[in-house]
Amino acid sequence: MIARVSLEIALRREFDYAIPPDLAGQVDVGSRVQVPFGPRKILGVVTAVAEQSGQVNLKPILKIIGAQTLITPKVLKLARWIGEYYCCAPETALKSVLPEAVRNEDASWRERLFVRVLPLSGEFPKLPKRQQDVWNLLAERREILLSELVELAQTTAATVRKLEDRGLIDITSEVSERDPYAREHILPSQPLVLNPEQVTALAQITRAMDAPSSILHPPSSTFLLHGVTGSGKTEIYLQALAHALEQGKGAIVLVPEISLTPQTVERFKARFSSGKVQTLVAVLHSHLSAGERHDEWHKIRQGRARIVIGARSAIFAPVEPLGLIVVDEEHEYTYKQEEAPRYHARDVAVMRGRMENAVVVLGSATPSLESFYNCRRGKFTLLELRQRVDNQKMPRVRVVDMRQTRRDGKGPPVFSPQLKEAITQRLERKEQTILFLNRRGYSSSLICEKCGHVCGCPNCSLALTYHRSGQVLRCHICGYSEQVPAVCPNEKCRNPGIRYSGLGTQKVEEVLGKLFPQARIRRMDADVMKRKDDYRQVLGDFRTGKIDILIGTQMIAKGLHFPNVTLVGIIFADMALHMPDFRAGERTFQLLTQVAGRAGRGDVEGEVFVQAFTPFHPAIQYARRHDFLGFYEQEMEFREQLKYPPAGRAALLTLKGRNEDKVKFSAEYVKREVEAKALAAKSETAPDETPAPVNPGISDLMVTGPAPAPLLRAENYYRYHILLRTRAMSRLSQLLAQLTATLTLPEDVTLAVDIDPVDMG
Ligand code: ADP
Ligand code: ZN
Repeated sequence: MIARVSLEIALRREFDYAIPPDLAGQVDVGSRVQVPFGPRKILGVVTAVAEQSGQVNLKPILKIIGAQTLITPKVLKLARWIGEYYCCAPETALKSVLPEAVRNEDASWRERLFVRVLPLSGEFPKLPKRQQDVWNLLAERREILLSELVELAQTTAATVRKLEDRGLIDITSEVSERDPYAREHILPSQPLVLNPEQVTALAQITRAMDAPSSILHPPSSTFLLHGVTGSGKTEIYLQALAHALEQGKGAIVLVPEISLTPQTVERFKARFSSGKVQTLVAVLHSHLSAGERHDEWHKIRQGRARIVIGARSAIFAPVEPLGLIVVDEEHEYTYKQEEAPRYHARDVAVMRGRMENAVVVLGSATPSLESFYNCRRGKFTLLELRQRVDNQKMPRVRVVDMRQTRRDGKGPPVFSPQLKEAITQRLERKEQTILFLNRRGYSSSLICEKCGHVCGCPNCSLALTYHRSGQVLRCHICGYSEQVPAVCPNEKCRNPGIRYSGLGTQKVEEVLGKLFPQARIRRMDADVMKRKDDYRQVLGDFRTGKIDILIGTQMIAKGLHFPNVTLVGIIFADMALHMPDFRAGERTFQLLTQVAGRAGRGDVEGEVFVQAFTPFHPAIQYARRHDFLGFYEQEMEFREQLKYPPAGRAALLTLKGRNEDKVKFSAEYVKREVEAKALAAKSETAPDETPAPVNPGISDLMVTGPAPAPLLRAENYYRYHILLRTRAMSRLSQLLAQLTATLTLPEDVTLAVDIDPVDMG
């Protein structure tokens, strides 16, 4: 017998190895093995087992890693799909489905030494004092970890061993599982009585789960659960999970890394991992130690943990059989992995659900346009929860027109009089305020502070990016560029003061401190939150009322619940709005909605102030009215016009290198190759006699660029983008895979392919 092995080195091909007699019967598809490769020993994954091979002089497999096959055939299939669809080497895709803590050859269960008292045979011996002390402790405990005993009795292992020699105790090595939540005391929770909207939603989900797999197909098995924060989505997940368990199946729950807090995990453990009937809930995320991750993963693999909750990569958890996948906050950008394989966990979830006949529930208060579009096209089923469970009102959102606040000779103030007044009130009433500044913009747009005009690209309907050097404005999609105008281009305005004005949280903190010297202010952004604990501590202080005003970036936008926060201020909503990204409007809408959700979660109605230079921008106006549908309709018009996703599909090619000319030249070359291949593919499928079949995948291909990336030079690398748009992505994926395999680029220039890109920077 022979085994085909995908090696963990980037070779884009697989090799055959002989299965030696002593390993016969143990090597299976999905086994991790060590094999010789030239003079080296390399790890790999068995992708097939066969009787014979086309290759000769096969070398034998050296050994198997792990007692069980680590990659189940189903996950293997999923990994293959990822490799193909996301255009990456199969070994890269395979690598991503196993956590490092499991892949690592040395990773294993932790063995620890336990001490146990043995039944006494005969006379109890007279012991020296030190041994007697230890014995006294043991006689009471009967069983204890050796390390614990040594510490407790302030003794040495040697002394304990003496007791073993006397036949009084037994010291054995046993597996001791690392449980990251062992210290948490979790009270069991019971299913709640659902309200009518919840009942309807849950019924549709469970009906799909009950359907025989032969009739289960995507439209009826993938759901988008759209409901504002607090509308009871999580309760629906919990009850759907219970249904999966009743069916004897397992489930995966994905949450964004940032919301994978102890509170979130606790809600799931409280329902399933405590009380009389316990089902193990395994947690997978980056804050666990390698050992904990190893143990959690193997609990899943062994089928002991039936519910997995985790961030992005938990979508590969070896749950079998899989009944349900939940993707909470499905619109979150962190579900996209920004390095190869550049997969989107939500999309992988939908694909895995389809492959394994599992029902998929995507939930969000602000669904991605992609998912909502799929509902409209009948690919997903939409489930809606229209109200908060407690019937609490949505906060009142006031949009402040910053153009009105201009002071002669100076720019606009950081705080409008309205927001200033509102903060003063909160300080007097001892209520709390959150101020939010989106500072994701590395570079920014040029905006007229007098009329709100934004300099945009005539071709791409995107904001132009301001480049200090050379004072130019540039479109990073198509490469269009122009000089920074001397006066505002708006005919009716002609303000000579149009200029770039960046603003950071530090500046906001400074100004705020001067305005309200008596207030206790804390800033929370990536610059000051260096350690994990900082974050927790600031939030703790805020919760206990030690802070009056919290200033932050997107870090504070998500899922936090502070009953005493009655005011949320968004400093310059425009900063997020005019980023050179076709999703800028969508992101701003989501952000405003999320941030606004931070206000008024207690008994007092909340108030939100949105300061903007373009107050009438649809993203701001629809967010003000909490009108997702309205936003969707109008935003889709723009996407349709220019075939931006989800109206079309996109792929972003990035060329990167130290020499700008070479990068630019290579980008031109890649573009020509893509265009040539697209044309060739078209003619291949057009036979002479029969009428040419329509080939939408290639004939509708739009190639834009190359253009310098917004962050042209990062860490001494130059980056150029080419944006591809088409309706049939799998065909383009194929074409790009062929291309990357045959392309010859200069040695110091690299090409990255990003299918369905999220980060356009
Ligand atoms: P979401 O996930 O949409 O934010 P949750 O499921 O967390 O909403 O529900 C918000 C709050 O309402 C939670 O405290 C939850 O326990 C409670 N809740 C949810 N459904 C019900 C219900 N049917 N009856 C009473 N309380 C509920
Ligand atoms: Zn353009």
